[in-house]
Amino acid sequence: MPKITGYKTNDVRFPTSLTGDGTDAMNTECDYSSAYVTLQTDTDLSGYGMTFTIGRGNDIVCAAIHQVADRLVGKDTEELFHDMGKTWDFMMADPQLRWIGPEKGVIHIASGAVNNALWDMYARSRKKPLWKLVADFTPEEIVRSAAFRYISDAITKEEALELLKSKEAGKKEREAKVRELGYPAYVTSAGWLGYTDEKVAHLTKEALQSGFNHFKMKVGASLSNDLRRGTLIRSIIDDPQFQPANLPPRDPNGEDLKGKNAGKTGCVLMIDANQVWDVNQAIEYVKGLESIRPWFIEEPTAPDDILGHASVRRALKPHGIGVATGEHAHNRMVFKQLLQAEAIDVVQIDSCRLAGVSEVLSVLLMAAKFGVPVCPHAGGVGLCEYVIHLSLIDYIAISGTMERNVLEYVDHLHEHFKTPCTINSRGRYNVPNGADEGYSIEMYQSSIDEYEWPNGSYWVGRRQQEEAEKKGLGLRGH
Ligand SMILES: [Mg+2]
Repeated sequence: MPKITGYKTNDVRFPTSLTGDGTDAMNTECDYSSAYVTLQTDTDLSGYGMTFTIGRGNDIVCAAIHQVADRLVGKDTEELFHDMGKTWDFMMADPQLRWIGPEKGVIHIASGAVNNALWDMYARSRKKPLWKLVADFTPEEIVRSAAFRYISDAITKEEALELLKSKEAGKKEREAKVRELGYPAYVTSAGWLGYTDEKVAHLTKEALQSGFNHFKMKVGASLSNDLRRGTLIRSIIDDPQFQPANLPPRDPNGEDLKGKNAGKTGCVLMIDANQVWDVNQAIEYVKGLESIRPWFIEEPTAPDDILGHASVRRALKPHGIGVATGEHAHNRMVFKQLLQAEAIDVVQIDSCRLAGVSEVLSVLLMAAKFGVPVCPHAGGVGLCEYVIHLSLIDYIAISGTMERNVLEYVDHLHEHFKTPCTINSRGRYNVPNGADEGYSIEMYQSSIDEYEWPNGSYWVGRRQQEEAEKKGLGLRGH
């Protein structure tokens, strides 16, 4: 049986700040980065994982990954796989590392990278993509794999088991359906703050032609600017002339669009403030955007402010605008409270801010119990590759529904992955199907060699170029 013999990390940074990709009201210069880990065994079996950052500090996460991964060295993989919930507890239980969390911040996202790598290895060892490994589990196995500590006041293991058993009957049909149709998606990349109106209009039209009908726009830097851009996007998505000719018209009053403020073409707009406001400011600002009819405001305020989100939701309800959050919710307890406080309409888990698949499973179970749809956060680098697996697990085995869900999609940086996610002509994610792709997160060695910080060929070349420019401008010695 394979034993874990070691690990290595790579600090990989992509220079996305040069193009304005990923810009929002809070994050203005993002170099999308991956704190990447490879778990090695004494056989050919490896596991790949990562967590996402936006540049500086990625080296700190890599250092934390070393600390966490070290706990797995010498362990028998089959023993770890046999009870992934117990394994997760073990990974989180180092008393000295726990002090620098607990279960939050750098140490937690590092734990996410390592837990994901272990799940990737598990799926590869069974010759299944990750989603299929978990979707084929018995209800008992899913419950055993989840992180249950501290959430039994919201969902007990017995309740989770009952919920999963009630979904057993339809699993095969759902799997067949999503393989045929794909999983619903939405685009964010049309609405970054750093883009000109021309670029926004062009990208929105392009996304419509690709089959998308949910669009997200970044807001929060200037109300008049947001209103202008929102009105521009609505004018395009609501206009029948820009709808794709190859797809049947959508019913704006259909079940899948109820409560989403869809326009007459069945298109939906969402807005995302990336935490810029205080609670009352959020309420006033978003009321000012009522005319662009968003389905929800995402991250209106500080991600830890559960009662603040509840206040925003209560205040915006009469205006028909919902609240979504979760990409910075750092553990299952935050989601538990957001659900218990009725603070959100949409759960936006992040695949590697939560500490890996085991903790994600516990949030999927809670969301299913509370009846709140899960629309995972993605984009960045690697997140889209990860989250399609999580949404498939949610649909096939846990919530049993995908009709109202939408999974974030951004068309950036997929080319660095060996098994990149893909979108079909209906604007939906295809189902990953490789027997050896695990959690789909293995990067090309050539991409690592090029973009590793600080000595990858790209970064060396860029420093040389900057030096040359300085000299050319006569700045030397001044
Ligand atoms: Mg967001």
